[in-house]
Formats: sequence, C-alpha cells, structure tokens
Amino acid sequence: MYLKSLEISGFKSFAKKADISFNAPITAIVGPNGSGKSNVAEAFRFVLGEQSMKSMRGRKTEDLIFNGGESSPRANRASVKLVFDNTKRLLNIDFDEVSIERVIHRDSLSEYLINGTQVRLKDVIELLAGAHIGSSGHHMISQGEADRILNANVRERKEMIEDALGLKIYQYKREESERKLEKTRENMDKVESLRKELAPHLKFLKKQVEKVERTIALREELTTLYREYLSRETAYIAETEKEIAQQTARPKAELARLDAELVAAKKVLDEAQHENKKVTELMSLQATLKTAREARDEAVHAIGMIEGELASLERMYAREKSASSAEVVSIEFARVKSLVTRIEELCAELGSVAELGGVRAVASKIRESLASFMESTRNARAESRVVELEHDIARLRERRETGARESTAREAELARIMKQYEELERAIEKEKDSSRDAEKAVFRIVAEQNELRGTLSVLRVREDKLKLEKEDLRREIEEGAVLIGRDVYQYESLTTPYPAEDRQVQEERRKQLEKIKVRLEDSGGPSPDEVMKEWKEASERDEFLAKELADLSRSAESLTTLISDLAQKLETLFADGISKINHQFKEFFALMFGGGDASLVVVEEKKRKRVSSEELAELGIEASPDDTDEEEETDLGVDIKVNLPRKKIRSLEMLSGGERALTSIALLFAMSQVNPPPFIILDETDAALDEANSKKYGDMVENLARVSQLIVITHNRETMSRAGVLYGVTMGREGYSKLLSIAFNEAVAVAK
Ligand code: ATP
Repeated sequence: MYLKSLEISGFKSFAKKADISFNAPITAIVGPNGSGKSNVAEAFRFVLGEQSMKSMRGRKTEDLIFNGGESSPRANRASVKLVFDNTKRLLNIDFDEVSIERVIHRDSLSEYLINGTQVRLKDVIELLAGAHIGSSGHHMISQGEADRILNANVRERKEMIEDALGLKIYQYKREESERKLEKTRENMDKVESLRKELAPHLKFLKKQVEKVERTIALREELTTLYREYLSRETAYIAETEKEIAQQTARPKAELARLDAELVAAKKVLDEAQHENKKVTELMSLQATLKTAREARDEAVHAIGMIEGELASLERMYAREKSASSAEVVSIEFARVKSLVTRIEELCAELGSVAELGGVRAVASKIRESLASFMESTRNARAESRVVELEHDIARLRERRETGARESTAREAELARIMKQYEELERAIEKEKDSSRDAEKAVFRIVAEQNELRGTLSVLRVREDKLKLEKEDLRREIEEGAVLIGRDVYQYESLTTPYPAEDRQVQEERRKQLEKIKVRLEDSGGPSPDEVMKEWKEASERDEFLAKELADLSRSAESLTTLISDLAQKLETLFADGISKINHQFKEFFALMFGGGDASLVVVEEKKRKRVSSEELAELGIEASPDDTDEEEETDLGVDIKVNLPRKKIRSLEMLSGGERALTSIALLFAMSQVNPPPFIILDETDAALDEANSKKYGDMVENLARVSQLIVITHNRETMSRAGVLYGVTMGREGYSKLLSIAFNEAVAVAK
C-alpha cells in the first residue's frame, strides 16, 4: 500500500482540517448528496498538480478555497497534503515517507512542497510521473465520467490508454528530448552563425599571423646571423687591433732609437762646424809658432854674438894682463870734478850751520864723500884696462847667461806651441773622420726612418680602416638592437671562437644581413604580440565554438537516437499494452455481460494539416506570401469494438447507459490491471449499476485492489461492503464537510 493519508484544510467544503488514513486496500467514502465526497476526489487531483479548474469544478482559484458557511468564516488558504509510504521507493526520492503538499492563497499562486520543502510544479509532476501517477487520468474517475473513455474520440482514447500503460513518462521524455533537440538545433544554428561571423576575422588574422610568423622567422634568422657576424666582427677587430699594435711597436721603437741616433749624428755634424774654428786656431798657432821659432833663433843668435864678443874680450884681457905693471892710475876728471862740487856744496852747507851738531853732521858727510872718492880711485886704479876688460867680460858672461836662459825659455815655449799645434792638428784630423761617419749615419738613419715611416703609415691606414670598421660595428649593433632588441647582444655570451676564415666570407654575411634587414623592415605590420594575442583569442573562440558545435551535434545525434529509441519503445510498449489490455478487456467484458466480445483496435486517422509558405519554400515549392496548402497527415487512434451477447450491436452509441457503464468499467479495469497504478479513485463509477452488476463490479473492485489501492466514493451498498475502511462525509448546518471513520452498518445509514 502506497497511500498513507490525506489531509484537507480549507479546500472547498472542508473548512476545518480533515484527515483520511488509507490503511486498507479499499477505502470507501460515503455520505449524502452534496456532503463533499467529490471534493475529496478533487483534493487528490489538486494536490497532484491539476491545473484545469474545470476538472475541479471551479472557475478560478478562489473557488477552491472554503468560501464560508452559515456560521463559519471563509478561509484564506486551502491546502491538501498527501502522504505516501515510500519504503518501496515508489517515488524516486530517498525517503521512506514522502509528503506532497499544495497550498493556495486567495491572492497568490500555488505553492508546492515535497517533504516540507518548497518545489516547482514541474518537480511534483516529474516525481509522480515516475510512479505512474498523474493529476487526472484513468486512475481517477470522476463522478459521471466513467464512460468518458467511451465518449472520447480515437485520439483522446489513445492518449488515455497510453497514460494507463505508463507511457506518459516516455512521451514526456520524448517531448522533452524533442524540445531539447530543437533547442540544440537552434543553438547549433547560433554557433554556426557565430563561427560564420568570426570566419572572415579569423581569416584576416591568420594572414596577419602568417606575416608575423614570417617576421619572427626573419628575426630568428637575423638573430642567428647577427650572433655569428657580430661575434666574428668583434673578434676580427680585437685581433686586428692587437696585430696592428704588435706591428707598430717595433717600428715605433726603432724610430725612437733612430731619432736618438740621428740626434747624436747631428751633434757630431754640428761639432764638425767647430772644425773651422780649430783650423783658424791652427793657423794662428802656426803664426805663433813662427814667432816663437824666430824668438828662439834670435836668442840663440844673441848668445852666439855674446860668445864671439866674449872670446875677443878674453883674448884682449889676456894680452892686457900681461902688459900691465905700472902703478899709475888714471882717474877720470869728471869724477874729480864731481868730488870738488860735492865738497863745495857741503862747505856751503857748513856756512849756514849754527850749532855744533850740524857741523859734525856736515863734517861726517865730507868724510864719507872723501872716503867714497878714495875708494873709487883705488877701483879705478885696479881696474884700469884689465879691470875694464874683466868688467866687460863679466858683463858679457852675465849677458850670455841671460841669453842662455832666454834661449832655453824660448825653446821650451816653441816646444809647447809645437805640441799644441800638433795636438790641434791631430784633433782636426780626428774630427774630420767622425763627421764623415756621422754624415753616413744620417743618410742611413733617414733612409731607415723613411722606410719605417712608410711601414707605420701603412699601419696607420690599416688603423684608420679599422676605426671605420669599429664604427660600422657599433652602428650595426645599434641597428640590430632596433630590429631584434636585446637578442642582438647574444654574441657577447659566445665563448667558442669561430675558426678563421677569409674576410670576404664575413662581407658576404654582412650583405646577407642587409638583405634580411630590408625584408624585415618591409614586413612591417602590426605588433606581433597583439596579433598573436588576438589570433589566440579568436582561434580559441573558434575552437571553443567548433567544440561547442561538435558537442551540440553529438547531443543532437544522441537526442535523435533517444527520440527514435523512445518512439520505438513507445510503439512497442503501446502495441504490447493494447494486446494485453485487449486480453483483460475481453475477459472483463465477457464477465460483465455474461459473454460477448470487445476489443481495442488501433486505427489510422487521416487529418488535414495546413502547410505554411515557409515549409513550402523549404520543399522548394514557390508560393505567394499568404498562399497556404493542406497536406494529409495520418495519426493513430484507438477504437473500441463491442459485440454484445445475443444482440446485434456493433456501435458504442447503441449501448444503454448501464451497458456503457459496464463496457467502460471493463475497459478501465482492464487498463488498470495491465499496468496497475498505485491507487485508483472511483467516484460513483458504480452509480448506474443494477444489483447483479453491482456484485460483479464489487468482485472486480476487489480483484483490482490486489494490485492498486482503491478509494471508492459510493452510495452502493455492495461496493461499501468490499471496503476495509469507511469514511463518512457529512455536512451539517455549519456548511462545511466533516470526515469520520465509520463502520459498515453506519455507512449504509450515512450514505442515505
Ligand atoms: P453527490 O453525492 O450529490 O455527488 P457529494 O457528496 O459528492 O455529492 P460534493 O459535490 O463533493 O458533494 O460537494 C458539493 C458541496 O460542496 C456543495 O454543497 C458545495 O456548496 C460545496 N462547496 C463546493 N465548493 C465550495 C467552497 N469553495 N466553499 C464552500 N463550500 C463549497
């Protein structure tokens, strides 16, 4: 048993809270006309999510809320709560007991609660559909609606049968899948159009990217080439600088040495200028020499003269010496006269002297003069001729001595000058030699210097060229930095030297660099980073859309498969269900009518469908805007064939009221038997039956109660007798319905 209880509060005639517990397979609700029994059946519909006001006998929501009675105020809210025993997991929710509640207020929409939690109507419907329960349908037969299945057209009947067979859930799934498929297709269209919109931009970006990639490739090529070029160039410059420095060092040193040598040589030559001075000096020395020589010769000559004279005097002396013997002395008169003069002077002086002292002094002077005269008279006597000669000889000898000394001095002077002359002469000779050497040296030095200067000037040319090359390198690095940024400095970190090569190869490399630079400059275009970023974004978006499209198409595919599977399943289940129902139907029919035959027949119903101009256009048929056409569409339906025993009745319309009731009960019970719903509510389905048929009905009800819980609203005693639990509904003077559990005996009374 699945139903546990129903709680009605404020709903329709149930002003006060009323509870029904369904603890028997058959629960009968009995009561007089208008007491509110059908309201109980409607409370079921209401709580199960019925949206049709008509099937709850109302026009608007407010009609469902207790509207007040004679002595009871109207209610503001109506609520119905149905409690299921869910230990067998009838409902797909992990609770042993599940309550479904619907509440309405006068001024608001419905609220639905599952186990007290507010949910959407959809949730309630889905939950119930999974348990083969719907708000309306075959398991809730309203009063007077027992033969609804007979009155329905073939399509409606088919739907009712599908519902009874529990195919609704599949149909629901199929419809949902179809909706999903439609939505998926719409999304696919959207995504496709987004991709179409994106395509030109993507194409444009792709071209940009190719350009950027070419630029990147060129930059890479340039970077590699730069690395080698700059590395080699730097090495070349350093090497050449070193080489030039090395090659310059020796000539420079040599030149410096030669300069010093030249200075020395020039000094020698300068000194040679002084040679003339020496020659002049020599010449003057020659004159001096001549004079000295003459002076010496003169001295020698003078000695000779003196010696000659001396020899003559000595000979004379010798003669005179021998001849002299007389004492006669001749005195020179002058000397006598001088004596006399002197005495006279002193005598004169004596006359003027007054004192004795002065006389004595004069007398002394006179004595001195006389002594001196006597002395001179004695010499003169001695000398006479011999003395004279002796005198002369002595004088001459003295003169000879002097002359000899003079001569010696002159000789020495001559020798000194001679020596000086010779030295000067030698010096002049020597200087002449060194000046000749110096001259030669100057020639040699100048020649050597010229050669060295030539070498150095060649080196300087190389140096100048190298300077230009250095400048070129600097410029090249600058240009490179503009084109490839910091990568241009990669060469700096290269440690492995390249093998030596011909300079021409490097020149070729430089030309290649120029070519790439031109191509790189030509490539221009937008910033690679931006293009790549935009391309990445756009392509990612496109990829995303493509993936989305693939996903959508996969889900469309699986939905299509699901739909066709569901259609297949529905078809199979339906055909199978029909045959099963037919089997039961025949049985129940025969039971009810004591024979005869009845069956459901699947029929094809043709119907005309209006075709829109768009649909025509899709089929390639031209049509004016308001032109419409109709096409034939076939639909399946279910017809009922009856064959009453002993009667030639083939059409349903020809059946009596009772016969209709019996036929529809047989069919409804057959349907319920094939796919038993958890519960069935039968609201006075038995109203039209006579006693005999009521018994048969009672049997069937009991039979049915084995598979489905039954709630029967009835006035029929027979039916009441089959119920395990009976509830009486009464409406007193207060004007609202009351529910009470009653015994069978009471029930019969209550029903009346
Ligand atoms: P019968 O045996 O004749 O079929 P019943 O027992 O099935 O009768 P219902 O049709 O369930 O009776 O109840 C009808 C009663 O409910 C009427 O008296 C009607 O006035 C009352 N009713 C319906 N709607 C409301 C409402 N909103 N407020 C108060 N009473 C209501």
